[in-house]
Amino acid sequence: MGKIQLMDEWLSNKIAAGEVVERPSSVVKELVENAIDAGSSSIEVFLEEAGLTSIQVIDNGSGMDETDAMLCFYRHATSKISKEQDLFRIRTLGFRGEALASIAAVSKLQLKTSDGESGIELELEGGNIVSKKPGPLRKGTEITVSQLFFNTPARLKYLKTIQTELGHSIDLMNRLALAYPNIAFKLVHNGGTLLQTNGRGNVQQVLAAIYGMQNAKKMIAFSGENRDYSIHGYASLPEITRASKNYISIFVNGRWVKHYLVQKSIVDAYHTFLPIERFPIVALYIEGDPYLTDVNVHPTKLQIRLSKEEELLPLIEQTIRHAIRERMNVPLAQKKE
Ligand code: ADP
Ligand code: MG
Repeated sequence: MGKIQLMDEWLSNKIAAGEVVERPSSVVKELVENAIDAGSSSIEVFLEEAGLTSIQVIDNGSGMDETDAMLCFYRHATSKISKEQDLFRIRTLGFRGEALASIAAVSKLQLKTSDGESGIELELEGGNIVSKKPGPLRKGTEITVSQLFFNTPARLKYLKTIQTELGHSIDLMNRLALAYPNIAFKLVHNGGTLLQTNGRGNVQQVLAAIYGMQNAKKMIAFSGENRDYSIHGYASLPEITRASKNYISIFVNGRWVKHYLVQKSIVDAYHTFLPIERFPIVALYIEGDPYLTDVNVHPTKLQIRLSKEEELLPLIEQTIRHAIRERMNVPLAQKKE
């Protein structure tokens, strides 16, 4: 007799959680990305003890009706794609339909959501619904995740200090705020506000909220395009440098990504302007047909494959270099007079 059995949903969720939910900031990422996909204009994140005690995300997006609220915790339950072709033109941050299932599998979770017509409140423990009642009517969604990893002690043990875990969430929220200047973000930790943006769509104001007004003022706007991509953003003058490349943020069609060669092109744009082992603060936005990008490389979607890279990389390097040179040459030219 054969020995192979199909896993039940509960077990496969717990396994998938290992990939999607590495630490508290992974929960923040998935919940906030869902809030963005739901069309929110305001997203508030409240953490207790860096999220180890609780993570709460409140949005004013579309919300869910009762049927969707009951479905959303199933693995592969998604409203974002339905057919194979959709995979090649993804415009939402989510599409795999596994985040809520994974998070719920390794935590105690409360969902309050309303589409403006009816509200529902659910409580789950380890992925099982333990309570269901009518919820508030205000349109939007509020998810509270408490006791993360309560049933996966090994993962819990692996977490770093509060400060390190908090650092990951702050970094993530900074990038999301930069990616979506039209959304008002708020990050609160143990009652103290760490980040607040106004949602007015001004990237420089978001840069100021994150890196301080003085630094934001010393960032130069740049933009350029080729047949397939258009790029824009802000790059710091060479006098503003940092000891790590972590202050370089790359966004592709609204998604914060890590891309070694794009990052290298940005640094190369500064050429000899930067002191050795110092790096600029840059926010680079790349827009192109979703067909040219493959975000389905890893469950967290932080890595991306880009087509026509050989044309994109020089565009980035030249556009940023040109903007910096232009700005740096102005005072020199004036001095000569
Ligand atoms: P995905 O984002 O890949 O679709 P998730 O597990 O993160 O998968 O979410 C499942 C579904 O639940 C989403 O497709 C969406 O329909 C719904 N959903 C999740 N969070 C929200 C939210 N904050 N507001 C409205 N709908 C949501
Ligand atoms: Mg999602």
